[in-house]
Amino acid sequence: PSRSDAVEVRDLVVRYGAATALDSVSLRVAPGEMVALVGPNGAGKSTLVNTLTGILTPASGSVVVRARIAQVPEGRQMFGDLTVDDNLRLGAWQLRGRGKSRRKQRDTSWVYELLPDLVRVRDRKAGGLSGGQQQMVAVGRALMSRPEVLVIDELSLGLAPLIVADLAEHLTELNREQGTAVVLIEQNARLALDLCSRAYVLEAGRIAAEGDSADLAASPDIARAYLGEA
Ligand code: ATP
Repeated sequence: PSRSDAVEVRDLVVRYGAATALDSVSLRVAPGEMVALVGPNGAGKSTLVNTLTGILTPASGSVVVRARIAQVPEGRQMFGDLTVDDNLRLGAWQLRGRGKSRRKQRDTSWVYELLPDLVRVRDRKAGGLSGGQQQMVAVGRALMSRPEVLVIDELSLGLAPLIVADLAEHLTELNREQGTAVVLIEQNARLALDLCSRAYVLEAGRIAAEGDSADLAASPDIARAYLGEA
């Protein structure tokens, strides 16, 4: 861990009542890095990101966030009766500090530049959009707060492969052009390891493996457990 990490998690323990969901989890995200968090259902991935973004409070351990962080929540959580444009504007409430003016806070134009497919649906109700379009709105809404770290909980869930590839392309572009760090929570480990340079494997509340995505993908254990390879 380095003092300049954007996110630094140490020995995190999170409980739901008597059940321990995270047991001594440590993780770091450097500025501008794309990091994957993979693992089976119930491993604690959502618990970890919800603790990173401050939704959950740990029983012990520490979370240090040295950057603006925004989350694309699992299940996207659109305001279905509101337009795409209004959904985006609602993302601006997360913005704080660093002297951004009110006007700038409500400026959706850069989101439309980054995600141009949203332009032609901007006045449509979000509830009427396809799953892929809604996921794009959810990403756009998180971007309204100009995050330096974007945390995405289940990018690919319920989406067709072509749609996922398109979203992945946009994330890569965002990372390359804006230097936004991305933490990608994925059940689709293949996608996550392809997209991110580094990864953590979470199993039953513990980090079971971590390292360069390429090394992890080359590991027979990981391949067998997560990549559907014999
Ligand atoms: P999924 O991909 O299914 O969302 P996950 O890896 O994100 O799984 P979590 O949702 O973080 O896993 O859950 C970790 C553990 O904590 C699981 O055993 C789950 O049943 C439990 N858990 C999650 N939320 C709660 C809650 N609100 N109350 C009690 N237990 C919970």
